[in-house]
Amino acid sequence: MTPFILYGGTFDPVHEGHLAIGRAIADAFDTPVHFLPAADPPHRLPPGASAEQRATMLELATAGDPRLIVDRRELFRSGPSFTVDTLQQVRGELGQSASIIWVLGLDSLVQLDTWHDWRRIFSLAHVLGVQRPGTAMGKSWLRQRAAAVYSELASRWRRFDQLPGHPHGFYASLPMHPLRAESATDIRRRIAAGEPWADCVPKAVADYIGTAGLYRRGT
Ligand code: ATP
Repeated sequence: MTPFILYGGTFDPVHEGHLAIGRAIADAFDTPVHFLPAADPPHRLPPGASAEQRATMLELATAGDPRLIVDRRELFRSGPSFTVDTLQQVRGELGQSASIIWVLGLDSLVQLDTWHDWRRIFSLAHVLGVQRPGTAMGKSWLRQRAAAVYSELASRWRRFDQLPGHPHGFYASLPMHPLRAESATDIRRRIAAGEPWADCVPKAVADYIGTAGLYRRGT
């Protein structure tokens, strides 16, 4: 069964690390990866670029690679944008038997228990954790940092190639070779500080950031 793969994030801005992850996952599962930019937080100004600008940068970054698809569904929803709601919507569209995979970095996985209704994610999708510098893929690393997440995952742990055979409920991790050090926070900091940053993003994204004057005042 070919899985439907969703990769959510703020992407403020999208960087080469995000794109390398998308390509590695598309290669590993031989199917496209859908990037989902998160909506702006309700009732306050966006921290960096607006949702519309972040989605535009993603479209510039993924143009020309049909395996990387931008999905704007979270931008059109009113109210807070919870991952479980997104997954519920996708499940409704694809039906009960489709295999759905939600991608996150291992640094985000250790905070999974702070997400709204997080345990229900596993009744809708699998979770795929991607290695990032400073993280490790093994069980003991997770157990030491996030006991609640670890105990929820313990019986769900599988090899990544086992996920497509099932609709939801499993966890797997995916190694990255090489590890990608890019970070959106660091890119915003560099721009505000006048340090080099353009190599961290595709040229079209660097041009857009420059023209729109994004991130110059820091966040
Ligand atoms: P920040 O630097 O502010 O943490 P970010 O670069 O992590 O931002 P996000 O949009 O928050 O950007 O990332 C979306 C997802 O991609 C998150 O789950 C994050 O863990 C993961 N991710 C981002 N950069 C990397 C990277 N270099 N390697 C592996 N995972 C990454």
